[in-house]
Amino acid sequence: MGISLTVLGSAGTHTGAGRACSGYLVEVAGIRVLLDAGNGATANLQTLVPVSGLDAVVISHRHIDHCIDLISCYYNLRFDPDFERRIPLYAAAEVHELLRGLLANDSPMDFDDVFEHRQVGHGDAVRIGAMDLRFARSLHPVPTVSTRIEVEGASLVYSGDSAGGPDLVQIASGADLLLIDATWTGDASQYPAGIHLTAGDAGAIATSAGVSRLVLTHLAGATDRRQAIAEARARFDGPVLLAEDLERYEVGGV
Ligand SMILES: [Zn+2]
Ligand SMILES: [Zn+2]
Repeated sequence: MGISLTVLGSAGTHTGAGRACSGYLVEVAGIRVLLDAGNGATANLQTLVPVSGLDAVVISHRHIDHCIDLISCYYNLRFDPDFERRIPLYAAAEVHELLRGLLANDSPMDFDDVFEHRQVGHGDAVRIGAMDLRFARSLHPVPTVSTRIEVEGASLVYSGDSAGGPDLVQIASGADLLLIDATWTGDASQYPAGIHLTAGDAGAIATSAGVSRLVLTHLAGATDRRQAIAEARARFDGPVLLAEDLERYEVGGV
């Protein structure tokens, strides 16, 4: 049994031409988990599965480019006469408060009609179907988690937005695939500290963590994609790929 990862949105911070913000579909043995729901990501999701086909949602943090499409998903589900359950939403309290508050402006809509919030943070672990998920705090200006998903020895780690640090190296340790924030290129000191990684620093983290494969994502619109790959490769000897919307990666299993 392996993990299938499909990129639904690879753009950093804002959408680009034909490129949605952060969203990733993780599938294991017919169980589907949506990792982040940035602007546009759930339009790509629905080319593969309906929103009602999700078993759980994990949101890394409350920034709009990672969560706002859950408002769209609310309407998908709220007006679907055949949808009669609630989808577990694993996220920090701030994510739930933000989204619930947005819908509250549109009374009598209640976000909790279709999503069941379960708070997660550093050190928490949950099981979804055959998937074991673990969370670690991520360096970012608001509460953010990195997520590790394991199935029968196969492992996938998603950094969320991250400026790196020891918690990311630890949760990514030995992962088969690390999907990582690589917003910028060049010298990290030219950017504000504590928000995102450069592609080169993403490569260094992959090396420190001893991962097998690296997939760079969340590139800023102006970031040169070939330069990002080159800078990551300069600091990591394994395969380095750039996330592209609707591209799929298989991790472990066959
Ligand atoms: Zn972001
Ligand atoms: Zn962010």
